[in-house]
Amino acid sequence: MKDITKKYTNGEVTIVWKPAMCKHSTVCWRTETGLPEVFNPAKHPWITPEGATTDSIVVQVKRCPSGALSYFMNSEEKA
Ligand code: SF4
Repeated sequence: MKDITKKYTNGEVTIVWKPAMCKHSTVCWRTETGLPEVFNPAKHPWITPEGATTDSIVVQVKRCPSGALSYFMNSEEKA
């Protein structure tokens, strides 16, 4: 399995997605549990971090059950 890592940033937080780990649980993009403004598998790219606040992105990323999603704050990366 290829170890691909994709990154998407709004300039403040960077969402990291590892497709090989994604279990397609739908948690991140279903309206009831997710943040469809940011995670939308019908779009390309499917993650658009501009769609929500950094705080709500962080909360959502932590809900990913497979560990496919993670994040880092851009300010911490440079520090
Ligand atoms: S919540 Fe995680 S495992 Fe589920 S679809 Fe989103 S990225 Fe994939």
